[in-house]
Amino acid sequence: MKIPFVDLRAAYTELQQELDAAYFRVAASGWYLLGPETEAFEAEFAHYCGVRNCVTVGSGLDALFLILRALEIGPGDEVIVPSHTFLATWLAVSSVGARPVPVEPDAVTYNIDPARIQDAITSRTKAIIPVHLYGQPADMQVIGRIAAEHGIHLIEDAAQAHGARYRGRRVGSLSIAAAFSFYPTKNLAASGDGGAVLTDDRALAGRVRLLRNYGTRDRSHFEVKGSNSRLDELQAALLRVRLRYLDAWNARRAAVAERYIKSLAGLPGLVLPQNPEWSEPVWHVFAIRHPCRMQIQEHLTSASIGTLVHYPEPIHLSGAYADGRWPSGTLPLAEQMAAEVLSLPMRPQLGDLEVSLVIQEVTTAVRQCTRTNGAASARESNVPRMPVG
Ligand SMILES: *Cc1c(COP(=O)(O)O)cnc(C)c1O
Repeated sequence: MKIPFVDLRAAYTELQQELDAAYFRVAASGWYLLGPETEAFEAEFAHYCGVRNCVTVGSGLDALFLILRALEIGPGDEVIVPSHTFLATWLAVSSVGARPVPVEPDAVTYNIDPARIQDAITSRTKAIIPVHLYGQPADMQVIGRIAAEHGIHLIEDAAQAHGARYRGRRVGSLSIAAAFSFYPTKNLAASGDGGAVLTDDRALAGRVRLLRNYGTRDRSHFEVKGSNSRLDELQAALLRVRLRYLDAWNARRAAVAERYIKSLAGLPGLVLPQNPEWSEPVWHVFAIRHPCRMQIQEHLTSASIGTLVHYPEPIHLSGAYADGRWPSGTLPLAEQMAAEVLSLPMRPQLGDLEVSLVIQEVTTAVRQCTRTNGAASARESNVPRMPVG
């Protein structure tokens, strides 16, 4: 049995009739941008998130970028971002000419550590962008309090967390504005690129609407220097179909996660995702952590089980940010995460038998590694380590 890490064809096949009908409806309509499907999806997704306004855009990166532009954040400003996230969170900040200021993760959620934010705030700080990484909500109440105290904007990067709840409320509704991505592997997926900005602030929504379409409302007058960042009608129609299945598909991810957690608990040196009581995650990624990450991944590969690392290169050490501001060792927790995390197969179409096989092979690999290396968790290091377990 082969277990690929992603299988987008299986996700398509399950909804094929409805997706095909949506596709042909748009193809035959002769209306391909900023039309009825986009408007309907915006209303439906806003309602789903419990937010007043949804403005669709071309990608998740653009959603973040356009929020920052709409808030007039730019050169000379600083924006606090997680040290451990996907590159896009930092890149959006750099793209408006502002400076990303990374803050290290906490050991439970792997999200930005609220206790470390205070020290990163300066007179130039304009916003904080917590990421609901792997589908796990960040501690928004605590972070929101810090933001309010300092009069800085709170923005969510919700690109991995469609449908997740924080203290009973959907992510995307917990800040001045939230960015979503509909990249094909996300929990709510387009068949191509797409993104959205969610906000209760009507004026802010209006500015993003203007910026996504060349800065014009009527195609004759150009009020500001905007972008071309529109979701097309076809993607909107496909997203309307998939939105109806989002809760059910997230529940299937949760069932897989529950089996992984139950069956892998207690393996030596293995750290499993943990769930604070205020959190209902949506398991975009199921990331385990182990000092023998490489050996475990090699074993799973040889057993035809696909895995990925989210993310193998700490952003501050990447070529994109190699301007010397953060030499190796300056963000040790981000570096440790990059060295130790491993994402197991996680998708709604994963069968019981496949989950059993993953569990069996991870168990074998961890035991093997522990035998070869002695106490696997005892790897010596002079950087402060995240607690195990
Ligand atoms: C996917 C992702 C983005 C960017 O979304 P794109 O649609 O690929 O531009 C931003 N932030 C995070 C955390 C993501 O996972």
